[in-house]
Order: sequence, then structure tokens, then C-alpha cells
Amino acid sequence: MHSSVLQANNVTGRRIITIDGPAGAGKTTVSKALAKVLGCVYVDTGALYRGVAFEISRQQINWQETHLLERFLTSLELDFVMEGREPVLTSSGRDISAYIRTNEISMLASSTSAVPQVRKALLGIQKSIARERDAVFEGRDMGTAVFPNASYKFFLTADVKVRAQRRFEESNTPGISFNKILQDIVKRDADDTQRAISPLKPAQDAVFIDTTALDVSQVVEKMKRIIKIA
Ligand code: C5P
Repeated sequence: MHSSVLQANNVTGRRIITIDGPAGAGKTTVSKALAKVLGCVYVDTGALYRGVAFEISRQQINWQETHLLERFLTSLELDFVMEGREPVLTSSGRDISAYIRTNEISMLASSTSAVPQVRKALLGIQKSIARERDAVFEGRDMGTAVFPNASYKFFLTADVKVRAQRRFEESNTPGISFNKILQDIVKRDADDTQRAISPLKPAQDAVFIDTTALDVSQVVEKMKRIIKIA
């Protein structure tokens, strides 16, 4: 049965773990595995930025026009609905998770995520989940901007070719080449790290993990030792 992440729950003092890093660093797989170990939810904040991009594309919004973007954001109703421990992204109640993983949406999400109004519009939903549940949050600015007081912060990275290979293997864009994925990851890295607000960067107190030569269980083991649950 579905139950909204935003259901009332007044207990405070949540344990929040943040995992930031570039595309293909292994954030999603590791976050899911860690959340399972901890018995808490996992929140993929990139899905929210992808949801914005998907709706901009579907509704053909001229998002570079500030007033059109602002009107669009006011009407946008993104939410996470729980399926077990996995939040599923909905837009106006409709499950859109099957449409947000294309290469086109990745690139549009990266461009639109640099716009202050977009980031502001998504802040509330991220904070309200954290008020209600222990959670592992993955994204780009979790440890720096959204949850500066998180209990534990990690920053994952890996060699860019290894990251592109991982994305190539899980790609659902028919006919796309490894080189195109590599090129797009390099562009997204540059855009995400160089944008003016909430750029991708490790928080000062984040634990840095290079996953180039590590598998998921090795990364999770490292994290468990740091969180002291090994
Ligand atoms: O993590 P994922 O690749 O799904 O994120 C898609 C895009 O959304 C990123 O390239 C980034 O520009 C943006 N994003 C962000 N802040 C986050 C999560 C994602 O700007 N916390």
C-alpha cells in the first residue's frame, strides 16, 4: 500500500545521512543499501530535479522566461510516495518515475537546477521529509546547503570514465554511445560544480570516498564503520 512520505509524524531529532557526488559515483545504489542497513528511507533528490525537467519538457515551458518558469513552479505538484522503503516520484498524483531517466532529462535537469527559483521550490519537500523520517538523502548539495547539520556526510566520486561506463551499462536511451554519455557527464560535472548556487562540492566535514575500484558492499562497509554500526 502507498503512504505519503509527508504523513504527519511529530517526532523530531531525526538521523539524517547525506551522500553527495557527481553522476555515476554510485550514490543511488549505495544510498539504497545503506538505508536498508539502517532501516530508514532513502531519498533521491536528483529525481526531484528530473521531475521538474520532465514537466518542463512535457508542458513545453519556456523556462528561460522568469515569469513563465515561476508560474509553472507554482502549479507544480511533485511528491514522493512510499513503496516500501523506496520513494516513488509523483507529479500531480501520477507516477512519473519511468520517464525521468533519459539522457535528455538528465541534461535539462542539470541546466534547470542552476536556476534559483527551481532550487527554492524543491527545498521545502526535502526539509519536510527530513522532519518526519530518518533518511539517507542523496544529491549534490545535501551536506552543504540542504542539511548542513546532518548526522553523517559522505562525498562519493570516481574516475570519470568509470562513471560513464556505469551509466552506459544502465542506460535506457536506445542507441546512445559510450562517448556521448562520457561527453554529457563531463558537461554535467562542469555545470554542476560551477553553478553559482549550491554547486556540487564536498561539505567541509564530509567523508570523501573514491569508488573507482570499490564495489557497493565495500563502500557500504566503509560507511558502516564510520557510522559505527559495523
Ligand atoms: O543525481 P541525478 O543525476 O539524478 O541528478 C540530476 C541533476 O539534478 C544533476 O545533474 C544536478 O544538476 C541536479 N541535482 C541538483 N541537486 C541535487 C540533486 C540533483 O542540482 N541535490
